[in-house]
Amino acid sequence: MTQRNQQLFERAQKRIPGGVNSPVRAFRSVGGTPPFLVRGKGSRVTDADGAAYIDYVGSWGPLILGHAHPEVVAATREAALGGLSFGAPTESEVEMAELLCRLLPSLDLVRLVNSGTEATMSAIRLARGHTGRDLLIKFEGCYHGHSDSLLVKAGSGLLTFGNPSSGGVPADVARHTLVLGYNDGEAVEQAFAQHGEHIAAVIVEPVAGNMNLVAPQPEFLHGLRAQCTRHGSVLIFDEVMTGFRVGPAGAQGLYGIRPDLTTLGKVIGGGMPLAAFGGQRRIMEKVAPLGPVYQAGTLSGNPLAVAAGLSTLRLIQAPGFFAALERKTQALCAGLNAAAAKHGAAFSAQSIGGMFGLYFRAGCPRHFAEVMQCDKDAFNRFFHAMLDAGHYFAPSPFEAGFVSAAHSDADIAETIAAADRAFSRL
Ligand SMILES: *Cc1c(COP(=O)(O)O)cnc(C)c1O
Repeated sequence: MTQRNQQLFERAQKRIPGGVNSPVRAFRSVGGTPPFLVRGKGSRVTDADGAAYIDYVGSWGPLILGHAHPEVVAATREAALGGLSFGAPTESEVEMAELLCRLLPSLDLVRLVNSGTEATMSAIRLARGHTGRDLLIKFEGCYHGHSDSLLVKAGSGLLTFGNPSSGGVPADVARHTLVLGYNDGEAVEQAFAQHGEHIAAVIVEPVAGNMNLVAPQPEFLHGLRAQCTRHGSVLIFDEVMTGFRVGPAGAQGLYGIRPDLTTLGKVIGGGMPLAAFGGQRRIMEKVAPLGPVYQAGTLSGNPLAVAAGLSTLRLIQAPGFFAALERKTQALCAGLNAAAAKHGAAFSAQSIGGMFGLYFRAGCPRHFAEVMQCDKDAFNRFFHAMLDAGHYFAPSPFEAGFVSAAHSDADIAETIAAADRAFSRL
Protein backbone atom coordinates (compact mmCIF):
# COMPACT_ATOMS: atom_id res chain seq x y z
CA MET A 1 0.00 0.00 0.00
CA THR A 2 2.67 2.52 1.01
CA GLN A 3 5.26 1.01 -1.30
CA ARG A 4 6.33 4.09 -3.18
CA ASN A 5 6.28 6.28 -0.04
CA GLN A 6 8.45 3.67 1.66
CA GLN A 7 10.92 3.49 -1.24
CA LEU A 8 11.21 7.25 -1.42
CA PHE A 9 11.75 7.53 2.32
CA GLU A 10 14.54 4.94 2.21
CA ARG A 11 16.15 6.75 -0.73
CA ALA A 12 15.79 10.12 1.04
CA GLN A 13 17.47 8.86 4.21
CA LYS A 14 20.59 7.95 2.24
CA ARG A 15 21.21 11.55 1.21
CA ILE A 16 19.20 13.85 3.50
CA PRO A 17 19.58 13.81 7.30
CA GLY A 18 16.62 11.76 8.54
CA GLY A 19 15.24 11.85 5.00
CA VAL A 20 13.68 15.30 5.54
CA ASN A 21 14.50 18.97 5.20
CA SER A 22 12.75 19.94 8.45
CA PRO A 23 12.66 17.52 11.39
CA VAL A 24 8.94 17.24 12.23
CA ARG A 25 8.26 15.89 8.71
CA ALA A 26 10.10 12.68 9.61
CA PHE A 27 7.19 11.28 11.70
CA ARG A 28 9.59 10.52 14.57
CA SER A 29 6.98 11.47 17.13
CA VAL A 30 4.16 9.32 15.70
CA GLY A 31 6.23 6.58 14.02
CA GLY A 32 5.75 5.15 10.54
CA THR A 33 6.57 6.39 7.07
CA PRO A 34 5.68 9.94 6.08
CA PRO A 35 3.63 10.16 2.89
CA PHE A 36 5.62 11.82 0.10
CA LEU A 37 3.23 14.38 -1.33
CA VAL A 38 3.05 14.76 -5.08
CA ARG A 39 0.27 17.29 -5.52
CA GLY A 40 -2.27 19.44 -3.73
CA LYS A 41 -5.51 21.00 -4.86
CA GLY A 42 -7.86 22.93 -2.61
CA SER A 43 -8.25 21.13 0.71
CA ARG A 44 -6.65 17.89 -0.50
CA VAL A 45 -3.20 16.44 -1.06
CA THR A 46 -2.20 13.22 -2.82
CA ASP A 47 0.79 11.06 -1.95
CA ALA A 48 3.20 9.01 -4.04
CA ASP A 49 1.04 5.90 -3.68
CA GLY A 50 -2.00 7.75 -4.95
CA ALA A 51 -3.73 8.11 -1.55
CA ALA A 52 -5.64 11.36 -1.04
CA TYR A 53 -6.02 13.21 2.25
CA ILE A 54 -7.98 16.17 3.54
CA ASP A 55 -5.09 18.35 4.65
CA TYR A 56 -5.11 20.13 8.05
CA VAL A 57 -1.41 21.03 7.92
CA GLY A 58 -1.54 23.44 4.97
CA SER A 59 2.25 23.54 4.67
CA TRP A 60 2.28 24.42 8.41
CA GLY A 61 0.11 27.49 8.03
CA PRO A 62 0.77 29.40 4.79
CA LEU A 63 -1.99 27.86 2.67
CA ILE A 64 -4.96 29.83 3.98
CA LEU A 65 -6.56 29.58 0.51
CA GLY A 66 -5.80 25.86 0.16
CA HIS A 67 -3.45 24.24 -2.32
CA ALA A 68 -2.77 25.68 -5.76
CA HIS A 69 -5.39 28.42 -5.67
CA PRO A 70 -5.84 29.32 -9.37
CA GLU A 71 -5.35 33.08 -8.88
CA VAL A 72 -2.26 32.64 -6.71
CA VAL A 73 -0.76 30.19 -9.19
CA ALA A 74 -1.54 32.52 -12.11
CA ALA A 75 0.03 35.52 -10.37
CA THR A 76 3.15 33.51 -9.55
CA ARG A 77 3.42 32.14 -13.08
CA GLU A 78 3.02 35.64 -14.51
CA ALA A 79 5.85 36.87 -12.27
CA ALA A 80 8.06 33.94 -13.30
CA LEU A 81 7.65 34.80 -16.96
CA GLY A 82 9.04 38.25 -16.20
CA GLY A 83 12.22 37.01 -14.51
CA LEU A 84 12.91 34.85 -11.45
CA SER A 85 15.07 37.24 -9.46
CA PHE A 86 16.77 40.59 -9.89
CA GLY A 87 18.43 41.48 -6.61
CA ALA A 88 17.30 45.00 -7.44
CA PRO A 89 14.24 46.99 -6.31
CA THR A 90 10.89 46.07 -7.89
CA GLU A 91 7.45 47.70 -7.77
CA SER A 92 5.77 44.60 -6.36
CA GLU A 93 7.91 44.81 -3.19
CA VAL A 94 6.69 48.35 -2.66
CA GLU A 95 3.09 47.21 -3.09
CA MET A 96 3.67 44.45 -0.56
CA ALA A 97 5.20 46.85 1.97
CA GLU A 98 2.34 49.33 1.48
CA LEU A 99 -0.27 46.61 1.87
CA LEU A 100 1.32 45.19 5.04
CA CYS A 101 1.52 48.67 6.59
CA ARG A 102 -2.11 49.30 5.72
CA LEU A 103 -3.33 45.99 7.14
CA LEU A 104 -1.26 46.24 10.33
CA PRO A 105 -1.36 49.79 11.68
CA SER A 106 1.60 49.09 14.01
CA LEU A 107 3.89 48.92 10.94
CA ASP A 108 5.45 52.16 9.66
CA LEU A 109 8.30 50.47 7.81
CA VAL A 110 8.78 46.85 6.84
CA ARG A 111 11.69 44.79 5.49
CA LEU A 112 11.07 41.61 3.48
CA VAL A 113 13.11 38.47 4.13
CA ASN A 114 12.86 34.80 3.11
CA SER A 115 11.87 32.89 6.24
CA GLY A 116 10.34 33.36 9.65
CA THR A 117 13.68 32.44 11.19
CA GLU A 118 15.34 35.34 9.41
CA ALA A 119 12.55 37.71 10.43
CA THR A 120 12.80 36.96 14.16
CA MET A 121 16.60 36.83 14.14
CA SER A 122 16.71 40.25 12.47
CA ALA A 123 14.02 41.73 14.74
CA ILE A 124 16.02 40.68 17.79
CA ARG A 125 19.25 42.13 16.43
CA LEU A 126 17.37 45.33 15.70
CA ALA A 127 15.87 45.47 19.21
CA ARG A 128 19.33 44.99 20.68
CA GLY A 129 20.85 47.58 18.37
CA HIS A 130 18.07 50.04 19.14
CA THR A 131 18.21 49.70 22.93
CA GLY A 132 21.93 49.01 23.33
CA ARG A 133 20.92 46.12 25.61
CA ASP A 134 21.54 42.38 25.26
CA LEU A 135 18.91 40.59 27.32
CA LEU A 136 15.97 38.89 25.64
CA ILE A 137 12.85 37.40 27.21
CA LYS A 138 11.06 34.50 25.52
CA PHE A 139 8.43 32.04 26.72
CA GLU A 140 8.63 28.30 27.23
CA GLY A 141 7.06 26.40 24.34
CA CYS A 142 7.08 29.35 21.93
CA TYR A 143 9.07 28.76 18.76
CA HIS A 144 10.57 31.64 16.85
CA GLY A 145 12.69 29.85 14.28
CA HIS A 146 16.11 28.34 14.78
CA SER A 147 18.56 31.18 15.33
CA ASP A 148 21.01 30.83 18.25
CA SER A 149 19.43 33.32 20.68
CA LEU A 150 16.10 31.52 20.41
CA LEU A 151 17.15 27.87 20.79
CA VAL A 152 17.23 28.27 24.51
CA LYS A 153 15.52 26.54 27.42
CA ALA A 154 14.98 27.80 30.94
CA GLY A 155 17.89 27.73 33.37
CA SER A 156 17.60 25.92 36.69
CA GLY A 157 15.93 28.75 38.62
CA LEU A 158 12.94 30.91 37.80
CA LEU A 159 14.94 33.98 36.87
CA THR A 160 18.21 32.35 35.89
CA PHE A 161 19.46 32.74 32.36
CA GLY A 162 18.88 30.19 29.65
CA ASN A 163 20.78 27.13 28.48
CA PRO A 164 21.09 26.03 24.85
CA SER A 165 18.27 23.69 23.76
CA SER A 166 20.24 22.60 20.69
CA GLY A 167 23.75 21.39 20.10
CA GLY A 168 25.97 24.02 18.55
CA VAL A 169 24.50 27.01 20.39
CA PRO A 170 27.17 28.67 22.55
CA ALA A 171 26.26 28.85 26.26
CA ASP A 172 27.52 32.43 26.03
CA VAL A 173 24.76 33.27 23.58
CA ALA A 174 22.04 31.40 25.47
CA ARG A 175 22.77 33.22 28.71
CA HIS A 176 21.42 36.43 27.20
CA THR A 177 17.95 34.86 26.93
CA LEU A 178 15.60 34.51 29.86
CA VAL A 179 12.86 31.89 29.40
CA LEU A 180 9.61 32.45 31.32
CA GLY A 181 6.28 30.60 31.47
CA TYR A 182 3.62 31.47 28.89
CA ASN A 183 0.66 33.33 30.43
CA ASP A 184 2.73 33.94 33.60
CA GLY A 185 2.44 37.69 34.02
CA GLU A 186 3.89 37.60 37.52
CA ALA A 187 7.17 36.10 36.27
CA VAL A 188 7.34 38.88 33.66
CA GLU A 189 6.88 41.54 36.35
CA GLN A 190 9.58 39.94 38.48
CA ALA A 191 11.98 39.71 35.55
CA PHE A 192 11.48 43.39 34.73
CA ALA A 193 11.80 44.39 38.39
CA GLN A 194 15.14 42.60 38.56
CA HIS A 195 16.61 43.15 35.08
CA GLY A 196 14.49 45.89 33.46
CA GLU A 197 17.34 48.18 32.44
CA HIS A 198 19.08 45.30 30.61
CA ILE A 199 16.07 43.90 28.73
CA ALA A 200 16.29 44.70 25.02
CA ALA A 201 13.15 42.85 23.98
CA VAL A 202 10.34 40.49 24.82
CA ILE A 203 9.43 38.15 21.98
CA VAL A 204 6.15 36.26 22.14
CA GLU A 205 3.79 34.27 19.95
CA PRO A 206 0.64 36.27 20.75
CA VAL A 207 -1.30 33.04 20.21
CA ALA A 208 1.10 30.17 20.80
CA GLY A 209 1.01 27.69 17.94
CA ASN A 210 4.22 25.75 18.27
CA MET A 211 3.39 23.87 21.48
CA ASN A 212 0.07 22.86 20.00
CA LEU A 213 -2.27 25.88 20.32
CA VAL A 214 -2.20 27.77 23.60
CA ALA A 215 -4.52 30.75 23.86
CA PRO A 216 -3.11 33.86 25.53
CA GLN A 217 -4.81 35.37 28.51
CA PRO A 218 -5.44 38.91 27.19
CA GLU A 219 -4.12 40.43 30.44
CA PHE A 220 -0.84 38.55 29.90
CA LEU A 221 -0.34 40.25 26.52
CA HIS A 222 -1.41 43.64 27.90
CA GLY A 223 1.04 43.14 30.78
CA LEU A 224 3.88 42.61 28.29
CA ARG A 225 2.93 45.85 26.55
CA ALA A 226 2.89 47.75 29.85
CA GLN A 227 6.21 46.37 31.10
CA CYS A 228 8.02 46.99 27.80
CA THR A 229 6.71 50.56 27.67
CA ARG A 230 7.71 51.26 31.27
CA HIS A 231 11.24 49.90 30.87
CA GLY A 232 11.99 51.05 27.32
CA SER A 233 12.18 47.48 26.01
CA VAL A 234 11.00 46.45 22.55
CA LEU A 235 7.86 44.29 22.39
CA ILE A 236 8.11 41.87 19.46
CA PHE A 237 4.98 40.03 18.40
CA ASP A 238 6.06 37.00 16.43
CA GLU A 239 3.08 36.75 14.11
CA VAL A 240 4.77 34.44 11.60
CA MET A 241 1.95 31.97 12.28
CA THR A 242 -0.87 34.21 13.56
CA GLY A 243 -0.48 37.02 11.00
CA PHE A 244 -3.52 36.90 8.68
CA ARG A 245 -4.38 33.52 10.20
CA VAL A 246 -6.29 34.42 13.39
CA GLY A 247 -7.90 37.50 11.82
CA PRO A 248 -7.48 40.27 9.25
CA ALA A 249 -5.04 42.20 11.46
CA GLY A 250 -3.37 39.24 13.15
CA ALA A 251 -3.34 38.68 16.89
CA GLN A 252 -2.49 42.35 17.45
CA GLY A 253 -5.83 43.26 15.89
CA LEU A 254 -7.67 40.55 17.80
CA TYR A 255 -6.34 41.59 21.22
CA GLY A 256 -5.98 45.31 20.51
CA ILE A 257 -2.27 45.59 21.25
CA ARG A 258 0.32 47.60 19.35
CA PRO A 259 3.69 45.83 19.44
CA ASP A 260 6.87 47.78 18.65
CA LEU A 261 8.02 45.20 16.12
CA THR A 262 6.13 42.43 14.33
CA THR A 263 7.48 39.44 12.47
CA LEU A 264 5.46 37.86 9.66
CA GLY A 265 5.85 34.82 7.42
CA LYS A 266 3.76 31.83 6.34
CA VAL A 267 0.47 33.37 5.02
CA ILE A 268 2.17 36.50 3.63
CA GLY A 269 4.04 34.31 1.14
CA GLY A 270 1.00 32.24 0.16
CA GLY A 271 3.20 29.11 0.04
CA MET A 272 6.35 30.76 -1.30
CA PRO A 273 9.39 31.64 0.86
CA LEU A 274 8.54 35.13 2.08
CA ALA A 275 8.64 36.70 5.53
CA ALA A 276 8.99 40.18 6.98
CA PHE A 277 9.77 42.24 10.04
CA GLY A 278 8.49 45.72 10.61
CA GLY A 279 7.25 48.23 13.14
CA GLN A 280 7.77 51.67 14.56
CA ARG A 281 9.59 54.06 12.30
CA ARG A 282 12.13 55.22 14.90
CA ILE A 283 13.18 51.60 15.47
CA MET A 284 13.07 50.45 11.85
CA GLU A 285 15.20 53.44 10.83
CA LYS A 286 18.08 51.76 12.65
CA VAL A 287 18.21 49.06 9.94
CA ALA A 288 20.90 49.32 7.23
CA PRO A 289 21.27 51.32 5.02
CA LEU A 290 19.53 53.97 7.20
CA GLY A 291 21.09 52.86 10.44
CA PRO A 292 23.80 50.75 12.07
CA VAL A 293 21.95 47.40 12.37
CA TYR A 294 23.05 45.20 9.49
CA GLN A 295 20.58 42.99 7.63
CA ALA A 296 20.57 41.83 3.99
CA GLY A 297 19.42 39.09 1.59
CA THR A 298 20.23 38.09 -1.99
CA LEU A 299 16.71 36.80 -2.68
CA SER A 300 14.82 39.10 -0.30
CA GLY A 301 11.61 40.42 -1.86
CA ASN A 302 11.83 37.76 -4.57
CA PRO A 303 9.29 38.63 -7.29
CA LEU A 304 7.65 35.17 -7.36
CA ALA A 305 7.28 35.06 -3.61
CA VAL A 306 5.92 38.59 -3.50
CA ALA A 307 3.46 37.83 -6.33
CA ALA A 308 2.11 34.75 -4.52
CA GLY A 309 1.92 36.70 -1.27
CA LEU A 310 0.23 39.78 -2.73
CA SER A 311 -2.37 37.71 -4.50
CA THR A 312 -3.07 35.75 -1.29
CA LEU A 313 -3.34 38.89 0.85
CA ARG A 314 -5.70 40.48 -1.66
CA LEU A 315 -7.97 37.44 -1.81
CA ILE A 316 -8.32 37.25 1.96
CA GLN A 317 -9.61 40.85 2.01
CA ALA A 318 -12.92 39.55 0.60
CA PRO A 319 -15.81 40.53 2.88
CA GLY A 320 -16.65 37.76 5.35
CA PHE A 321 -13.48 35.80 4.60
CA PHE A 322 -12.36 35.46 8.20
CA ALA A 323 -15.87 34.96 9.57
CA ALA A 324 -16.32 31.98 7.23
CA LEU A 325 -12.89 30.55 8.06
CA GLU A 326 -13.53 30.93 11.78
CA ARG A 327 -16.96 29.32 11.54
CA LYS A 328 -15.57 26.26 9.72
CA THR A 329 -12.68 25.88 12.14
CA GLN A 330 -15.08 26.15 15.08
CA ALA A 331 -17.37 23.56 13.49
CA LEU A 332 -14.43 21.16 13.19
CA CYS A 333 -13.50 21.59 16.85
CA ALA A 334 -17.11 21.33 18.06
CA GLY A 335 -17.59 18.13 16.04
CA LEU A 336 -14.38 16.59 17.37
CA ASN A 337 -15.28 17.54 20.96
CA ALA A 338 -18.73 15.98 20.56
CA ALA A 339 -17.34 12.78 19.02
CA ALA A 340 -14.76 12.44 21.80
CA ALA A 341 -17.38 13.06 24.51
CA LYS A 342 -19.65 10.40 22.99
CA HIS A 343 -16.88 7.81 23.38
CA GLY A 344 -15.62 9.07 26.74
CA ALA A 345 -12.18 10.10 25.42
CA ALA A 346 -10.15 12.57 27.51
CA PHE A 347 -9.92 15.15 24.74
CA SER A 348 -10.49 18.81 24.01
CA ALA A 349 -10.20 21.06 20.98
CA GLN A 350 -10.37 24.80 20.43
CA SER A 351 -9.73 27.27 17.64
CA ILE A 352 -8.79 30.90 17.12
CA GLY A 353 -9.54 32.18 13.63
CA GLY A 354 -8.29 29.56 11.16
CA MET A 355 -5.98 27.70 13.53
CA PHE A 356 -6.89 25.00 16.01
CA GLY A 357 -5.50 22.78 18.75
CA LEU A 358 -6.37 19.16 19.59
CA TYR A 359 -5.40 17.94 23.05
CA PHE A 360 -5.62 14.46 24.49
CA ARG A 361 -6.42 15.75 27.97
CA ALA A 362 -9.56 17.09 29.61
CA GLY A 363 -9.50 20.87 29.14
CA CYS A 364 -7.37 23.14 26.97
CA PRO A 365 -3.82 23.77 28.21
CA ARG A 366 -2.77 27.25 29.40
CA HIS A 367 0.99 26.77 29.26
CA PHE A 368 3.76 24.37 28.27
CA ALA A 369 3.59 22.11 31.33
CA GLU A 370 -0.12 21.49 30.71
CA VAL A 371 0.55 20.75 27.04
CA MET A 372 3.06 18.15 28.23
CA GLN A 373 0.28 16.40 30.19
CA CYS A 374 -1.43 15.37 26.95
CA ASP A 375 -1.61 11.61 26.32
CA LYS A 376 0.89 11.17 23.50
CA ASP A 377 0.04 7.51 22.89
CA ALA A 378 -3.64 8.31 22.47
CA PHE A 379 -2.69 11.11 20.07
CA ASN A 380 -0.52 8.74 18.04
CA ARG A 381 -3.32 6.16 17.74
CA PHE A 382 -5.75 8.89 16.71
CA PHE A 383 -3.26 10.37 14.24
CA HIS A 384 -2.65 7.05 12.46
CA ALA A 385 -6.34 6.11 12.41
CA MET A 386 -7.12 9.47 10.82
CA LEU A 387 -4.22 9.25 8.35
CA ASP A 388 -5.35 5.76 7.26
CA ALA A 389 -8.85 7.16 6.75
CA GLY A 390 -7.51 10.01 4.57
CA HIS A 391 -7.24 12.92 7.04
CA TYR A 392 -3.81 14.50 7.31
CA PHE A 393 -3.12 16.16 10.68
CA ALA A 394 0.26 17.41 11.91
CA PRO A 395 2.37 14.37 12.86
CA SER A 396 3.02 15.57 16.41
CA PRO A 397 0.90 16.33 19.47
CA PHE A 398 2.74 19.65 19.82
CA GLU A 399 1.63 21.39 16.64
CA ALA A 400 -1.38 23.51 15.82
CA GLY A 401 -3.65 22.62 12.90
CA PHE A 402 -4.98 24.78 10.08
CA VAL A 403 -8.21 25.05 8.12
CA SER A 404 -8.24 26.84 4.76
CA ALA A 405 -10.93 28.64 2.79
CA ALA A 406 -10.88 25.64 0.43
CA HIS A 407 -12.16 23.28 3.15
CA SER A 408 -15.85 22.70 2.50
CA ASP A 409 -18.49 21.96 5.11
CA ALA A 410 -18.56 18.45 3.58
CA ASP A 411 -14.79 18.07 4.21
CA ILE A 412 -15.27 19.04 7.84
CA ALA A 413 -18.22 16.64 8.22
CA GLU A 414 -16.18 13.83 6.66
CA THR A 415 -13.33 14.44 9.10
CA ILE A 416 -15.69 14.50 12.09
CA ALA A 417 -17.26 11.20 10.98
CA ALA A 418 -13.80 9.62 10.67
CA ALA A 419 -12.85 10.98 14.11
CA ASP A 420 -16.00 9.45 15.57
CA ARG A 421 -14.82 6.04 14.33
CA ALA A 422 -11.25 6.71 15.54
CA PHE A 423 -12.41 7.71 19.04
CA SER A 424 -14.63 4.62 19.26
CA ARG A 425 -11.55 2.41 18.82
CA LEU A 426 -9.05 4.47 20.80
C1 LIG B 1 7.04 28.93 11.55
C2 LIG B 1 7.41 29.93 12.60
C3 LIG B 1 8.67 30.55 12.61
C4 LIG B 1 9.78 30.16 11.68
O1 LIG B 1 9.48 30.39 10.37
P1 LIG B 1 10.32 29.63 9.22
O2 LIG B 1 9.82 30.23 7.96
O3 LIG B 1 10.01 28.17 9.39
O4 LIG B 1 11.77 29.91 9.48
C5 LIG B 1 8.89 31.56 13.52
N1 LIG B 1 7.95 31.92 14.40
C6 LIG B 1 6.74 31.32 14.44
C7 LIG B 1 5.72 31.78 15.42
C8 LIG B 1 6.44 30.30 13.55
O5 LIG B 1 5.24 29.68 13.62
